[in-house]
Amino acid sequence: MPELPEVETVRRGLCPAVEGRVVESLTINRPDLRWPFPEGFARRIEGRRVLRLRRSAKYLLADLSSGETLLMHLGMSGRLLLHPPLPGKIVEAPAQKHDHVKFKLDDGTEVVFNDPRRFGSMDLYSTASESQHWLLRNLGPEPIGNSFNACYLSECLAGRRVTIKSALLDQRLIAGLGNIYACEALWAARISPAARAGRISTLRIERLATAIKSVLAEAIAAGGSTLRDFRHAGGELGYFQHRFKAYGRQGEACMRDQCSGVIDRISQSGRSTFYCRRCQR
Ligand code: ZN
Repeated sequence: MPELPEVETVRRGLCPAVEGRVVESLTINRPDLRWPFPEGFARRIEGRRVLRLRRSAKYLLADLSSGETLLMHLGMSGRLLLHPPLPGKIVEAPAQKHDHVKFKLDDGTEVVFNDPRRFGSMDLYSTASESQHWLLRNLGPEPIGNSFNACYLSECLAGRRVTIKSALLDQRLIAGLGNIYACEALWAARISPAARAGRISTLRIERLATAIKSVLAEAIAAGGSTLRDFRHAGGELGYFQHRFKAYGRQGEACMRDQCSGVIDRISQSGRSTFYCRRCQR
């Protein structure tokens, strides 16, 4: 499932190809993804210029010259495939199974949304009313932005009886931090995922805020380096192999210097948590 760094990588990969371009045509191969497409979806996008491609949490937001914004969410298995125009040739990208939406741009570029499980979604809304959009209005600050810091984290954890792991996954507190990077940040900050959110010392909260920013920044940097390969390999944006310190390493030795612990896997609110009992307290 794509998390914030993967979505940011997709955005950075798409930006140079779509910003400033006009969507010449839009093909939809089915009536819905996770939800039905909005009324007049293709008509409202065709002929419009993409002014800017932004990201909020795990949503990609394309501001159009019509004053509307196209929201895209990749869900569990959604991918955006970029087919740049080939010089001197007019060829359509070969259609693949699960290609649900195809944007054709005025320079011949095609952007295809492919999603086998169809948990992805798209919506279109007036850019001016973005702060009221039902998917965006309750989101907390971006963890890689300036308004997220130790002071903010300390304020929003105060008095909370839930575990720190579930507080970190609460999108109203922090936008877009998912299961993988919550595990990684807790490992980096040496905090047990089962610790009560409201009982963590200020010093440890400072460490956690720094860890959240750095695990995301590292993953975004790793994604950036895959973009260079992607231009050669062609097509698929947003999925890359990243080395995790805790996530998915159940039964393996803890990677922290001088820790002889082993990474454990537990279930918290139905999600897998990976952590080292020895050094995360
Ligand atoms: Zn350890």
